[in-house]
Amino acid sequence: MRFDIITLLPGLLAGPFEHSILKRAADKGLLEVELHNLRDYTTFKHKQVDDYQYGGGAGMVLMIEPVVRCLDFLKAQREYEEIIYMSPDGELLNQSLANQLSLKNNIILLCGHYKGIDQRIREHLITREISIGDYVLSGGELAAAVLVDAIGRLIPGVLNDESSALFDSFQDNLLAPPVYTRPETFNNWRVPEVLLSGDQKRIDAWRNELSLERTRLLRPALLNK
Ligand code: SAH
Repeated sequence: MRFDIITLLPGLLAGPFEHSILKRAADKGLLEVELHNLRDYTTFKHKQVDDYQYGGGAGMVLMIEPVVRCLDFLKAQREYEEIIYMSPDGELLNQSLANQLSLKNNIILLCGHYKGIDQRIREHLITREISIGDYVLSGGELAAAVLVDAIGRLIPGVLNDESSALFDSFQDNLLAPPVYTRPETFNNWRVPEVLLSGDQKRIDAWRNELSLERTRLLRPALLNK
């Protein structure tokens, strides 16, 4: 799977994909992330990519021409199933959306900045808009990194034990059960006895029960989905 990320700040995205699971995915050839600096696609003086908004008001707006040039450059090379604009008023990212997007091959992510991007880009060039939560970030880069991480780990072959993503929170609309590791006792705090029992049936039943209990307690709305 390939992501092409259009950004004003490629430096912000240099790190997130070079560690741990996403790095392994890249090393295995399962995930490719290419960064494109919007400033390389402008024909304006001083590499300008933004301008004042019509109607007045504070904050610069990304212009349509550099975005179109970059999109044309990418689309001439391969077909993209989605061209996604990261936006606080977009569709809220959740596990089911990540699952859905992990089945795609080529996705473009467009990161806004300042006041946002010219509305005509959103109306005519974007296939989808995604938000990572009801708060405003200063740019789309960190949101794009979150999206690539959430999707990237779902690509078949990326996680060592492929089934492990199935037991994470939100798959099946349940929160994950608690997990423990060595030592068995610390400060008199014991690991639940059942996990040491070696009885896989009892362990599975306990995990299911705890999953349900935690979901009921912490995120009851999930159970109505
Ligand atoms: N004026 C806009 C916010 C612009 S924030 C508004 O009020 O809606 C600058 C950029 O950060 C946006 O263009 C978008 O790409 C990104 N961004 C900010 N918050 C985000 C969020 N919650 N999810 C995804 N992208 C976000």
